[in-house]
Amino acid sequence: MNKADSERMAGILESMGYREAGAELDADLVLYNTCTIRDNAEQKVYSYLGRQAQRKRSNPNLTLVVAGCVAQQEGESLLRRVPELDLVMGPQHANRLETLLTQVDAGQQVVATEEHHILEDLTTARRDSAICAWVNVIYGCNERCTYCVVPSVRGKEQSRLPEAIKLEMEGLAAQGFKEITLLGQNIDAYGRDLPGITPEGRRQHTLTDLLHHVHDVEGVERIRFATSHPRYFTERLIDACADLPKLCEHFHIPFQSGDNDVLRAMARGYTVERYRRIIDRIRERMPDASLSADVIVAFPGETDAQYRRTLDLIEEIGFDQVNTAAYSPRPNTPAADWDNQLPEDVKVERLKEINALVERSARERNARYAGRTEEVLAEGINPKDPSQLMGRTRTNRLTFFSAETVDGRRFKPGDLVQVRIDEVRSFSLSGTPLNR
Ligand code: SAH
Ligand code: SF4
Repeated sequence: MNKADSERMAGILESMGYREAGAELDADLVLYNTCTIRDNAEQKVYSYLGRQAQRKRSNPNLTLVVAGCVAQQEGESLLRRVPELDLVMGPQHANRLETLLTQVDAGQQVVATEEHHILEDLTTARRDSAICAWVNVIYGCNERCTYCVVPSVRGKEQSRLPEAIKLEMEGLAAQGFKEITLLGQNIDAYGRDLPGITPEGRRQHTLTDLLHHVHDVEGVERIRFATSHPRYFTERLIDACADLPKLCEHFHIPFQSGDNDVLRAMARGYTVERYRRIIDRIRERMPDASLSADVIVAFPGETDAQYRRTLDLIEEIGFDQVNTAAYSPRPNTPAADWDNQLPEDVKVERLKEINALVERSARERNARYAGRTEEVLAEGINPKDPSQLMGRTRTNRLTFFSAETVDGRRFKPGDLVQVRIDEVRSFSLSGTPLNR
């Protein structure tokens, strides 16, 4: 989500005539797009800002901007902490960057953190990839997970209209993009703020309906979406993913904990049993689907036995990838004020143990690719070996292969290549291309 915001803001800066500087410390304008999901992400911002603030003292023409979730969370107090700042802007204001910079040019110090209706995106993002693009479908989050800062910094859910989303995808296809990832903090909530009921009495706009609506955009070869919330993941959605050929067989469904009491304390609104049923259903319809998730260890009050249930669930399900984090108390979240916080050494120990399990699980899951032929979308050149291209399987596995075809021509980014997998590692694959 942050990366998508950064690409949009970079696009606005380019349209205003800015060009990328050689280095961070040479630029006339520096914008940090920040993350506050955990404390260590937030602390990084302050160390970067320290260096820039120092530069500004000898170079008053330098424009300093902090965007994103730290900006939203800290607002005015960021100016008190770093008075050299020109602009502090929350994530809902990303599309307004040009207007805000005009106010800065007029000599103001600007803080833009008020709740804002996100304008339909008229700017063109400066995308890092020419092959894969992000498309926002819903902003914000209406859940109230007790550990999470996202609802307070990204605000209420705002869905884009299906027509606007499709139009953006058609534009991307015309520019040669082949893979689209639809984005939302809680993408299953898509459409619940939009009006409309079907004759059968269902909500008219759901993620499933959106997938059907955008599936036929010509030129787009692959569609993905993230992030899914187990509470809203429906059978209808699973069926749509199985039935629509462009929908890739990879699902990112965070479960956060393998223990029902911890899930209740997190206010996640589902049980481990429900999570298992979703996974079973996915595997019934798409036996080879890859699965990834997020988990938090050392949530306040988590006992050793509860933590072990998280390990057991990882073992039982066999994930292709799990993002792990130790609980980090965040401002304005209920769990941060509880008095059953766990000590740092427990966090470090649990994280280390779970990461070892995740690596083993990923390696075991990857073993199934050995000797198989997979469709890989070439995304770019392998920076470590220019004779190779890299891309991903439909199941989202990073794969390296020779850029040369059997008859001596070269594959290029954007090609769909059949690759025979010769080598499997924990988090990537290598193979031989078979197309002519
Ligand atoms: N909307 C997504 C996740 C958004 S945040 C969902 O509901 O799953 C991305 C991940 O960061 C979360 O899945 C969670 O695992 C982690 N996270 C969020 N807040 C955290 C905190 N306070 N401490 C540690 N990890 C956290
Ligand atoms: Fe945070 Fe995700 Fe929960 Fe929303 S659903 S509060 S983004 S963890």
